[in-house]
Amino acid sequence: MSFHTNHETNISLILLGAGSSSRFELPVKKQWLYSKKRPLWLDVAQRFESMYTFDKIIIVSSSEEIAYMRNFAEYEYTEGGGSRQVSLRNALENIESEYVLVSDIARPCIPLEMTERIINAKNKADCIIPVLPVTDTLYMEDKALDREKIKIIQTPQLSKTAVLKQALQGDTLYTDDSSAIVAAGGTVHFAKGSHQAHKLTTIEDLERLPCIHPPYSRSFAGFGLDTHPFDEGKRMYLCGIYIDVPYGFKAHSDGDVAIHALIDALLGAAGMGDIGELYPDDDPNYQGADSTVLLADTIGRIHAYGFDIDHVDLTIIAEAPRLSPYKQAMRKRLADLLCVPMQHINIKATTSEGLGFVGRKEGVTVHAVATLGYFDWKEAQENIMKRVNR
Ligand code: MG
Repeated sequence: MSFHTNHETNISLILLGAGSSSRFELPVKKQWLYSKKRPLWLDVAQRFESMYTFDKIIIVSSSEEIAYMRNFAEYEYTEGGGSRQVSLRNALENIESEYVLVSDIARPCIPLEMTERIINAKNKADCIIPVLPVTDTLYMEDKALDREKIKIIQTPQLSKTAVLKQALQGDTLYTDDSSAIVAAGGTVHFAKGSHQAHKLTTIEDLERLPCIHPPYSRSFAGFGLDTHPFDEGKRMYLCGIYIDVPYGFKAHSDGDVAIHALIDALLGAAGMGDIGELYPDDDPNYQGADSTVLLADTIGRIHAYGFDIDHVDLTIIAEAPRLSPYKQAMRKRLADLLCVPMQHINIKATTSEGLGFVGRKEGVTVHAVATLGYFDWKEAQENIMKRVNR
């Protein structure tokens, strides 16, 4: 379903996704909502890729997100700036093609015909912009406006690269490419937009986006393992619970070996690397760190990137101390931290029958398994709508 004028690849594509999701009421960033089995940003990039052979596709996002996005697809990625304009300027530095098409990842359902209309008009002005007529009556303060003279501007917008680079050089902030080009004395051509190209801003918008589907029901398992030796000078914490013995664990952090294993299991299931990459143990910020704070940060990332935690199972291998009196408190603490019902948290304590370093009472080893699913935004949206309508 792609169209090609004559195998030209003199157009690059920039997809802007660095904005915050401040008006979005779900724990997930909107570009990380899953549609079937793909996050929204990837769905958008692949949709454009199927429409046209672009010289380059550049995705603009935060540095943290870019590190994770690289696991999904080999596009070019550029770190966003403090505003749409700075982000765009950063991305344009890497573009040499004659034209550049710029769109927002938050407009996921741009139809092929609309992209085609814009690209086919590329010789008509410095910037080609999709527009929709206004059908509602508009007031400015107490005066009705002539709606015939008003247009709603959408993306993608196609610009001559050199003109756009020049137009964005100053410090004046523009809300879109065309207004920068017009301010710099350039020309604009209007192409017909589409209601399908609606922008995803609030949860209600999900109803109006025909190309976004509920996520598939899938399960991802992750495994984590950690060992710490005993240290007489420290207090012992396991699963965020104080264990009343006269020694703790030798570690850069508080040494909560159970939470470290659990963090690795969660990161493993989400494909996010390991605890040492996220919270390096030579970083002074983590000196004596409360491991539950690191766990809360991990959980925040997992939710922001479109996952839900289903189940957690831990095996603590310790000859000492005796842990059975603490198991229920540990479950309760993890259930609270993970926002998962207690029945989905399992904690097992065992010994190594006197063998090895655990048997010699030199330390403790913990194995953890965690399973994640895609965050079911459809269900969350329905719950929020029910609350609003009551
Ligand atoms: Mg550790």
